[in-house]
Amino acid sequence: MHTVHHIIGGKSVKGVSTRTSDVFNPATGEVTKQVILGTQDDLNAAVAAAKAAFPGWAETPPLARARVLFRARDLIEQRVDALAAIITSEHGKILSDAKGEVTRGLEVVEFATGVPELLKGDYTEQVGRGIDAWTMRQPVGIAAGITPFNFPVMVPLWMAPMALATGNCFILKPSERDPSAAVMLAEILKDAGLPDGVFQVVHGDKDMVNAILEHPEIAAVSFVGSTPIAQHVYATGTAHGKRVQALGGAKNHALVMPDCDLDKTVDALIGAAYGSAGERCMAISVAVAVGPVADKLVAELEKKVKAITIGDGTHAASEMGPLVTAQHLARVKGLVDTGVSQGATLVVDGRATKVKGHEKGFFIGGSLFDNVTKDMDIYREEIFGPVLCVMRAPDFNTALELINNSPFGNGTAIFTRDGDAARTFAHAVKAGMVGVNVPIPVPMAFHSFGGWKDSLFGDHHMHGPEGVRFFTRMKAVTQRWPAGIRSGAEFVMPTHG
Ligand code: NAD
Repeated sequence: MHTVHHIIGGKSVKGVSTRTSDVFNPATGEVTKQVILGTQDDLNAAVAAAKAAFPGWAETPPLARARVLFRARDLIEQRVDALAAIITSEHGKILSDAKGEVTRGLEVVEFATGVPELLKGDYTEQVGRGIDAWTMRQPVGIAAGITPFNFPVMVPLWMAPMALATGNCFILKPSERDPSAAVMLAEILKDAGLPDGVFQVVHGDKDMVNAILEHPEIAAVSFVGSTPIAQHVYATGTAHGKRVQALGGAKNHALVMPDCDLDKTVDALIGAAYGSAGERCMAISVAVAVGPVADKLVAELEKKVKAITIGDGTHAASEMGPLVTAQHLARVKGLVDTGVSQGATLVVDGRATKVKGHEKGFFIGGSLFDNVTKDMDIYREEIFGPVLCVMRAPDFNTALELINNSPFGNGTAIFTRDGDAARTFAHAVKAGMVGVNVPIPVPMAFHSFGGWKDSLFGDHHMHGPEGVRFFTRMKAVTQRWPAGIRSGAEFVMPTHG
């Protein structure tokens, strides 16, 4: 059976660990590979290779670094089918969705090719008589990325292009559940001309994560995953003196106003709740129906949820693939059980869904709940499966208050034709990314991605201008030359008048 190895110093290496973890094809339920679970020694080898590569890469002019990314961009585009096939075989999402994920990652590579412009500092002539000042941004050094299973290409590409373009070495620890796409990204970057040791992949589980968080030579950690782990990563990484951005879980609400275009809203909710089997941090998992729209909304959703074609992600007809693992499937089914036992109305029950010929696959059908209340587990917990909860609110303000009281604040959306309601919502809602008639408002690569509250720990969002700031340190230079020196020793604070 194939074993997925680390990429250290430009080579595929098994490392010293003997621990492995199974990688499944979620559509068949079969173990298809093993991935090495690395140790501190494996991380040390990667850090040593990064340390050796860093001075050369950091001194490489931004334009030359950008050219490597231009070549990587072309190679990703040429290999999109292979990348998508790897994603589908280990994650389960349908191929067209996997290709979409690669494209969203590619956009960050494209943004990062503009790094000569992005790294331009500020300059002020004559801050004092004969004195000039400017700022520059320099790489932090060795940065690490720790990524979740649900976007094995896009999330690493939220981080790596920004880190590399700005002159850092980057060590990626992908999810052990779908680790192969990271290896393919390493091959692409090598083929694009990136020097060995600048981008590396170490595999592992919590032991490797903790080794990264405590490693004294790693200056910055970019994390995406669930909220409890994001909190742990932020607390431990910062306690070890690192810069950390840790993006966590989500419970994204859609506020549905009575004046919305119901057909378009229903279509938007179906795609946003059930696309990728709900395994998206920007999935809509709660629809808050305001006033009289609720009955119609639930009736229309019911029809469409029942019509979703569930199957192997490699089959062109499939609209929704399986969940990632048997454990995750059991958890999602268990949460649906609690929804029933805690009194929500289960309008569509996907728990018994089987796919013919794939009886051992990790499939579940779309489920739809009505009359969900805020004390229920299905509301309080991130389900991360194809389950949409409908809640009913008498008016806009009650709905807004419900959303603002959620501990999560990743994305949210309003569906309405009323400009006033939309504007008030965008202004007052406590979430990092807001859609107006846009169900999944993921910012483009040249903006930055990130939530509020328990959906992000740290100060910087991902990619875009925030990505440049996260992976660089600011330096301010103040300069004068002999002609600008007016006196000898000065014993008072210079006031530059
Ligand atoms: P996860 O938190 O289980 O794993 C994320 C990473 O942390 C993996 O690399 C994993 O190996 C590591 N990890 C797992 N348990 C650990 C532990 N106890 N100690 C240290 N490290 C550990 O998340 P997941 O299940 O892979 O991904 C799904 C989650 O990610 C969801 O909660 C989803 O909302 C979230 N997510 C958030 C965003 C965002 O932008 N906010 C984007 C994508 C996914």
